[in-house]
Amino acid sequence: MKKYCFGVDVGGTTVKIGFFNVDGTMLDKWEIVTNTDNGGEAILGDICKSLDDKLAKENIQIDEVKGIGIGLPGPVLSDGTVLQCVNLGWGKLNVEEKLSSMFHGVTVKAGNDANVAALGEAWKGGGKDYDDVVMITLGTGVGGGIIVDGKIVTGHHGAGGEIGHANVDHHETEACNCGNRGCLEQYASATGIVRMAKKELAASGENSVLRDAGEISAKAVLDAFKENDPVAVATMEKVGEQLGGALAIICCVTDPETIVVGGGVSKAGQPLIDCIRKYYREYAFESCKDTPIVIATLGNDAGIYGAARMVL
Ligand code: ZN
Repeated sequence: MKKYCFGVDVGGTTVKIGFFNVDGTMLDKWEIVTNTDNGGEAILGDICKSLDDKLAKENIQIDEVKGIGIGLPGPVLSDGTVLQCVNLGWGKLNVEEKLSSMFHGVTVKAGNDANVAALGEAWKGGGKDYDDVVMITLGTGVGGGIIVDGKIVTGHHGAGGEIGHANVDHHETEACNCGNRGCLEQYASATGIVRMAKKELAASGENSVLRDAGEISAKAVLDAFKENDPVAVATMEKVGEQLGGALAIICCVTDPETIVVGGGVSKAGQPLIDCIRKYYREYAFESCKDTPIVIATLGNDAGIYGAARMVL
C-alpha cells in the first residue's frame, strides 16, 4: 500500500522537506543544510539520509512510499534532467534517475523550483482548486510557473514559465542578469524596484522619504508606496504597468482561471495587487479582463507542496 510521499525543495542554502500522506495532507516538514562543497556532490545523498531517517523514525517501510517530488533551482527538462544549477554547483544531471537509484528505486519527479511552487499554489494555495493558473514570483529576481490542466508547462528547453525574462521594454539600455535588455525582472523584482525608484528620485523634484533614506530597499519603496509617497507611487505605477502588461500578454497565451502573485515583494499586499490589476485590465484581451489576481498563500511551503503534487 502506497501511503506516503515526500516533497523536496532544494535551495542554495537549505533543502526543505515535506512528508505527506497520499491524500495530500502534510504530516511533517523540516530543513537540512545544502552542502554546496565540491560541486554540490553531497546534496542528493544528504537528502536520502534525511528521508531514510524519517522512515526509520516513523517505522514506515519503503514500499509504503509512493514517490519523491523535487524542485530544483535551474532549468529542468521534462525527463528530469537539470541542465545546470549554478547555486548548487551542479552541471547536467538526470536527477530523477540519479535520486531514484540512490533511494531504493522509488519514483522521482523533478521540476524547476518556481514551476513547482506554482503547482503548489495551484493545488493548495492562492489558486486552490484551479487547474489553469499563472503564478509570478517577485523576489530577488522574477520567476514564474504556468499550470495548464493541472500540469506544469515545462517547455522544450525547460524555460516554460520564465516570465521574468519576458522582454517588456525594447528600448532598455541596461542589461538584465541574463544578458538581454528590457526583461520584466529589471523592473518588477526587488532589485528592479530599487533601480526604478532611484531613477524616479533622480528625475523627480518631489519630496520623498526615500530621498533621505540612504541605501534604498524594495521594502522601503513599498512601505512608502502604501503611505502615498509621491516618488514611491510614481515608481510603483511604472512597475505595475510593466507587470500588468506582461500578465495581459501571458493571459492571451494560456487564459488562466487565476493569476497568483508570490515572493517577498507580494508582502506589499492589496495595494500592489490593485496597482497591477489597474494596468492588467487596461491591457488584457476583453475575455480575460476579469481574471482574478490574488496573493500566494503558502509562502516558503509552496515548493514542498508542489513537489509532493508531482508524484500524487
Ligand atoms: Zn533577463
